Order: sequence, then structure tokens, then C-alpha cells
Amino acid sequence: MFISEHFVFKIKRMKHFDFLIVGAGIFGVTAAVALLKRKYKVGILDPGPVPHPLAASTDISKVVRMEYGADREYMDMVAECIDGWHAWNEQFGDTLYHETGFLMLCRQPVEAGLNQFEAASYENLLLKGYHPVRLDANALRAGFPAFNPDVYPEAFFNPKAGFAESGRVVRALAEYAIQLGADIFEGQTAGSFNQSGGRVTGVFTREGDYFEAGHTVVCAGAYTPYLFSELMPNMRITGHPVFHLKPSRPELFAAPLFSVFTADISNTGWYGFPSHPREKVVKIANHGIGVELHPERDERVVTEQDVFLFRQFLRESLPALANDPIVFTRRCLYNDTLDGHFWIDRHPALAGLTVAAGGSGHALKMAPVLGDMIASVAEGGGHKWSARHRWRSLTSDTKQAEEARFKLQ
Ligand SMILES: Cc1cc2nc3c(=O)[nH]c(=O)nc-3n(C[C@H](O)[C@H](O)[C@H](O)COP(=O)(O)OP(=O)(O)OC[C@H]3O[C@@H](n4cnc5c(N)ncnc54)[C@H](O)[C@@H]3O)c2cc1C
Repeated sequence: MFISEHFVFKIKRMKHFDFLIVGAGIFGVTAAVALLKRKYKVGILDPGPVPHPLAASTDISKVVRMEYGADREYMDMVAECIDGWHAWNEQFGDTLYHETGFLMLCRQPVEAGLNQFEAASYENLLLKGYHPVRLDANALRAGFPAFNPDVYPEAFFNPKAGFAESGRVVRALAEYAIQLGADIFEGQTAGSFNQSGGRVTGVFTREGDYFEAGHTVVCAGAYTPYLFSELMPNMRITGHPVFHLKPSRPELFAAPLFSVFTADISNTGWYGFPSHPREKVVKIANHGIGVELHPERDERVVTEQDVFLFRQFLRESLPALANDPIVFTRRCLYNDTLDGHFWIDRHPALAGLTVAAGGSGHALKMAPVLGDMIASVAEGGGHKWSARHRWRSLTSDTKQAEEARFKLQ
């Protein structure tokens, strides 16, 4: 929503920034760090606290995988990110990224042709000189005893992958941004944008403050299309179930006997993590169709039906977990674009405004390169990975391109 210049003098005017970032999730904090390193004056608004408990980026773990089926661009992007994750572990003196490996389980022998995501990922890793291992049922039984080898006759294991403690990553980057000179304004929710002569010159917050900026970068995740209705036709906000279990046999669910895994994901959506080093829980979630939700009006709950389907999956695939207690559930929101690529571009009709959102359930792993991508685009330049994430028109015929995603046929 846009308001004209003459209204500004009635409210409390805050500082002027070169770049004002709306939203302190992974898109916002990585963009802030990149812009600060380019010597800009940066402010960040978020209803807070940062990391925000309802933000998609705020979680105990997110998958970091190069496995993207036939899509080599995402594979190469994550290959670069994995070096970045190691560098952050070094820089922050903390293991925020755990390289536990990534196990793709197949319900059918690959020759049956039903596991294209897994087969193409494996081929592309080999082509790029990585060393994923192909496992038959016996090798699976020996190496990863928690899984039911009668259900998964074949699997692929890639040691160069793992998970990131995303909530702690956002906190570390926010603290780093402050060290670099950022002003983070918690308790500030962007409500509307000041526009003058076809240019966005600042943000009005719901709390009654006004922030002036040379350029505004909106990284509001699932709220983004509600700030710009012109994005609505290209995006959907979908909620996805997450479960934490307390394993009664924790030794079975710790690396190296257990790793980040996908269980025939493109046909079921199921994936999960080894027992968490801090929380001591096994997190399992579903990367599927999800339920369309409004980020503020609708409840974000996991239903009895979700739990029923989850228990069914466990009984079949991970019998040792089937009766263990669920100690936490959450329905977390994706800012889905209809094609599954991100949305990182300057507004086509309004100067002084960039939108960086559309994580579509798979952007967290890209954190080490996201910031530079957003900063370069906001400066008016390009980035080697930015082309497919530009402002575009999508239709109801547009197909979801992310191959791991369990989707409507
Ligand atoms: C269940 C689930 C599992 C996932 N698993 C993975 C995974 O394994 N691997 C992976 O790579 N990715 C995964 N993702 C995707 C990834 O988490 C997201 O793509 C990414 O975190 C999105 O980051 P964001 O900064 O766009 O949004 P968010 O993290 O949601 O941050 C948006 C921020 O904007 C703030 N905000 C909103 N409105 C306003 C406003 N009006 N004014 C100011 N601030 C505002 C919010 O408070 C929030 O802090 C998963 C996502 C979900 C939901």
C-alpha cells in the first residue's frame, strides 16, 4: 500500500538509510550483511524478536543438499554454499552447519524409473566429480539400521551434505550485522510504503513510525504478497507439518548410523534429520503440497490427520520410532512461487524497491550466496544465479520445478 509525501510530517520520523530491509529472516539478514560489507548504511525492521519464532528461517535444522535432480544450476549453487557454510562455522567459531551426509531412499529399484529425482541427482553428482555411494537393501541394513530395507531396496548416500541450525544462523548473522553497523528495529512492522514521483522513499510502520531510505528491500517471507498485491497471482502461502520425536533408542538415530534423509520424497514428501546435537530430538517433516493459509488470520496447526499419516510412515519406514513420543509439532509456512524459483528482483514499476522472497521451501541452504545475490540485484546489477529468480509472470499452468517436492500430478 502506498501513501503520498504530504502525510509524512504527522508521524515520528526515524533515521535515513541507504538500504532499509523489511524482515529479518535469512533473506533479510544475509542481504544486510552483504550491503554492510559494501559500506552502505543499513536498517532492518522486524516485528521481532529476531529470529522471529514464526519465521520460516527459525528452526532447529534445515537440509543442505546438492541433490536437485536434473537441475545442475541449483546443484552448483549449493556446492558453492557448502564452502560458505564451512566458512561460517569457522568465522563464528560454532558448528552451525553439520556435515552428516544425505541419504536418498528409493521405494523401487532405480531401473523402474519411479525415482527420477534420486537417479538424476546421483548422475549429476558423479558428473561433477563427487562420490555418492549407491546402496542396496543389505548395505542399507548394515549402514543405516533404523530404516526398513524391505521398503527401500535402493538408496544413495552423499557425504557432502547435512543440515544447518537455521535459527542460530539467523541470530549469528543478525549479531554480525550489528557489529558491521546495522540498526535492527525489533517491534517494527512495515505497513505501507511512501511513494514520491514513482519512487519508494520510505516505510510507514504499523507502530506509527516512518523510516526513510534510498532503497527498500522487502524480505517479508510469507507476508510479502500481502504487502504487494501484484505478487498474489505468482505466489501461494502453504503450511507444512513438522514433527519432533524423542527417540527411545537414540543410538540408532545419531550420525553416522543416521543422516539427513529423504524417503522417496518426490512421491511422498517425507524427509528428516539425525537426532539433534542440542535438542536430542529427531525432526521429520513433509516437503509436499501443504495447506494454503493466510499468515496472520489462519491457525498454523498440525492436525490429527497429519499425525495419522506420520505414524503410518514411521510404522513402515522407521519402525524403531513408530511408538516414540511426539514432543513438538509445528505447521511452518512456505512463500511458494508457482514455479518454485525464488523472487529476487527490483520492482518493475517502482524505483527504490526490491523484493527478495519466494523461498518456496528450499532457500535456507542457499544462505551463503543469497546475500550477495540480493545486494547485487538491489544495487541494479545482476548475479550469476539471479536470472531465474527475476520478476516474472506465472500462470495457473506454471509447473513447480523443484524436483524433490511432492506435488499434485
Ligand atoms: C517447514 C519448513 C521446512 C523447510 N526446510 C528447508 C530445508 O530443509 N532446507 C532449505 O534450504 N529450506 C527449507 N525451508 C525453506 C526456508 O526455510 C525458507 O525458504 C527461508 O527460511 C525463507 O526465508 P525468508 O527470510 O524469506 O522468510 P522468513 O524466515 O519467514 O522471514 C521473514 C521475516 O519477515 C518478517 N516480517 C514479515 N512481515 C513483516 C513486515 N510487514 N514488516 C517487517 N518484518 C516483517 C518476519 O517477522 C520474519 O522475521 C523450509 C521452510 C519450512 C516452512
